[in-house]
Amino acid sequence: MKSLFLVGLFFALAHHLATAADDDDVTTSQLMRDAARIIEMARQGDNIEAGRQADVVFRSAARLHQEKEDISSLEMYEHALRLSPWSVEHYLGYADVLKSLGRDEKAEHWVRSAFQRAEDLGTREKARKWLGLPSSAVLPAYSREGRLRICLVRIGQPPDWLVHRCGIGLENTMGIPVMLLDEKIALPQSNRSAFRRWASQLRKDIKWNDPGLAQFARQHGLPSGDLSDHQVVELVEALIAEARPPEELANFRRTKLQLKESKYDEQWDVEKLLELVKAHANESDDPDVIWLGISSKDLFTGDSNYCFGAAAGPPMCGVNSCARFMADFNQEPPDAERLCERLLKQMLSSVGTLLRVPRPIDPTCPRSYPQSLAEHDAKTLNLCPDCRTVILSNTGKAVPPLPDKVFEKVSSPK
Ligand SMILES: [Zn+2]
Repeated sequence: MKSLFLVGLFFALAHHLATAADDDDVTTSQLMRDAARIIEMARQGDNIEAGRQADVVFRSAARLHQEKEDISSLEMYEHALRLSPWSVEHYLGYADVLKSLGRDEKAEHWVRSAFQRAEDLGTREKARKWLGLPSSAVLPAYSREGRLRICLVRIGQPPDWLVHRCGIGLENTMGIPVMLLDEKIALPQSNRSAFRRWASQLRKDIKWNDPGLAQFARQHGLPSGDLSDHQVVELVEALIAEARPPEELANFRRTKLQLKESKYDEQWDVEKLLELVKAHANESDDPDVIWLGISSKDLFTGDSNYCFGAAAGPPMCGVNSCARFMADFNQEPPDAERLCERLLKQMLSSVGTLLRVPRPIDPTCPRSYPQSLAEHDAKTLNLCPDCRTVILSNTGKAVPPLPDKVFEKVSSPK
């Protein structure tokens, strides 16, 4: 079989993806050998590659703790943390070992760090319980009573702790009561995906009219027409395996793996999500409410690469996403407070738009338009005097001064 069905296939060069084997499949001695190899790699000076594979060292440390080898576990954790100090998800494991060894004070230091930093609910909650902190304040449920109010609506499964905390922040910064809708809007299918775009490119490159193709597809257990994206990728993979050099196949497989495993591969059209929020708003027929949808999915609009959110009315509706504010999206150290601030700035921006407040010129106002995440980060949480003036005249309510503790629950404004 020759590569008759393929013309000018484009292969993106994907960087190496370390695939983590399932923990249970690996024996302790194998794990220890792998960890030792990675530690040695760092000792020889290749800290970058060793850092990339630090997960294996963390897993070895956790395994040693499981097997009650706490002195060795401690040492292994310290190797791992030296390789990858921002792996916040492992801080609690390290603290567990410290506690087993009676080093309570040091253990607490790491738990506190995990609580301050972690952006995932699991780590945050475990750390909070360990520290004996009260559970965080929650938003009241939506009710029809009162004048101008903001109601947050979860689209899919955004992190609950983040939604509540930012909702409280929004109430504190705007002086408008914020509630949470109990029911969630189900997340529809994504509208765009790098994997799908790649598959459609491959689809174009296949010579569908070639008489040998149908037979070749059948031989590989694939239908000869109407192939799904995954089947197209399978077919091209088989063709490359048959007719092209092994390096090409390796490249192809790496690209496939990378695109399939990327957590943020898919994107949603913000206009479509906005329609869903609007449908809910129309149904509930409560003209004093600003409905603000919150999603953890990556959004785009029109031809843009991405967007943080959108807002339009009436009815007053917005959609904001935290996807691009997450540490794992940007491959930066986790920082729970920074995440809250980023989302809150976006919420203030959307709410302002819905209250017909023009974009300000002060770049430090949370409502100014950022060209990048760096510019978004450079904004403050303090609404500028121009925004405050227009909000007062459009709502009849003054924006309160920025509180010291933006995300802490204070007595609700009346
Ligand atoms: Zn402003």
